[in-house]
Amino acid sequence: MSTNDIEMLVRSILAEKSQLFETAASASQCFGAEFEQVDDAVAACLEAFKALDSNAFEVRQRIINELRKALEPYIVKLSEDAWAETGMGNVPNKIQKNTAALHKTPGTEDLHSQALCGDHGITLFEYSPYGVIGAITPSTNPTETIINNTISMLAAGNTVMFSPHPGAQKISRWLINKIEEIIFNLTGIHNVVVAVKEPTFQTTQQMIDHRDIRLLVVTGGPGIVNTAMKSGKKVIGAGEGNPPVIVDETADIEEAAEHIISGASFDHNLPCIAEKACIVVDTVADELLSSFARHGALLITCPQQQQHLMAAIVTPEGTINKTMVGKSPATILTAAGIPFQGEPRLLVMEVSNDHPLLYIEQLMPVLPVVRAADFNAALELAIKVERGCLHTATMHSRDVYNLSKAARALRTSIFVKNAPSYAGIGVGGEGYTTFTIATPTGEGTTSARSFVRTRRCVLNSAFNIK
Ligand code: NAD
Repeated sequence: MSTNDIEMLVRSILAEKSQLFETAASASQCFGAEFEQVDDAVAACLEAFKALDSNAFEVRQRIINELRKALEPYIVKLSEDAWAETGMGNVPNKIQKNTAALHKTPGTEDLHSQALCGDHGITLFEYSPYGVIGAITPSTNPTETIINNTISMLAAGNTVMFSPHPGAQKISRWLINKIEEIIFNLTGIHNVVVAVKEPTFQTTQQMIDHRDIRLLVVTGGPGIVNTAMKSGKKVIGAGEGNPPVIVDETADIEEAAEHIISGASFDHNLPCIAEKACIVVDTVADELLSSFARHGALLITCPQQQQHLMAAIVTPEGTINKTMVGKSPATILTAAGIPFQGEPRLLVMEVSNDHPLLYIEQLMPVLPVVRAADFNAALELAIKVERGCLHTATMHSRDVYNLSKAARALRTSIFVKNAPSYAGIGVGGEGYTTFTIATPTGEGTTSARSFVRTRRCVLNSAFNIK
């Protein structure tokens, strides 16, 4: 290739890049990937999908590699700003969650083509994108979910309109704009990810109803999952959970206590997978409770203090007090007027098996503990506590038959044995990371292959070389 040829090639690439810039940036675009109107955001994202779709498959992985590199310096900022804006959780655990989302979400390697060969030729089963996905993200893992969804959905060839939680909109919008900048600088394609400038419940509803949104992916509570289900579209719903943890008499109690405290106090219990209720076989209950105290939990044993704690975290109507969600144990104790020393990691309270705290998803570092006569009674209660969310459960035991029986009976998307719950999302445990665990719709721990259409491509009478 001559110098002239190279110059021509560079010029044509630059021209193409600037043309894409003009095509994809619509009149209502504010800056970066933000739009005033849902219609304009979706239209731009559809253009981006067409541009991405006309590129080579390997471009998707190049973008993902670049995102992993270019977002790394912002992990601390994302964690600090999310904490400052939402007032929930804690920065060190948010750093762990963002790091896992950025580096342990699978890319295009997650998509395995399948082929059937025989006398009639070859049939290929291939994973193809939907187009523009409408993704709704929560306040509890705002930036983690955007990073995780972007990588998974993009690996599958889609572009994404995000509808971030209004309570975490500032940091979510900052991140979406940063992702836009990184992708544009690498590819010249604008609007692979977009959002509206002011996300509200109304704009979320408009996105749900938009004709060009082919797939809805909802990470949030039951209200918004049910709202999306009414759209008549394909929905991947990642809804609420109420994960029980069972401890049987064969468990290593010291290790179980350490793991339960670590899991239930992680990001002040904000993750949907975090241990929300502990059910322990009676013969080892006292030992577990004293181990909890050794691992930094504060046991609330005085009945009057228990009442004050309940009044601080549950409303008279029996719902959670939202102002206490994701707050530190110290903040909750102060609100309850309970004196304490130091910085407890978790508040633990022994309760009876009909206590309301066992059954509500409180998302706070408060763990109710209940005794069961034996393993079978513990399992029966755990199923009741889980309330059919089929989300997450954990268990500590050395009895493989008990573990197996619980895994089968609980039917949860994630079942963690002898580890903190976060091992189930690739933090410390084997396996990849996800922040969208699709329980009501059954996709489980989502990754690129969850966001594809399976297509069948048949070639008659050729390429069978068996
Ligand atoms: P949320 O339900 O309050 O909000 C989720 C999103 O839905 C937000 O973007 C919000 O703006 C939007 N939204 C809520 N109600 C809406 C409505 N009626 N119309 C339009 N938009 C609406 O969730 P949250 O408080 O941020 O997150 C906590 C909940 O999410 C918990 O129940 C938790 O278990 C669940 N969660 C589940 C997963 C999972 O992977 N399964 C992950 C994280 C959080």
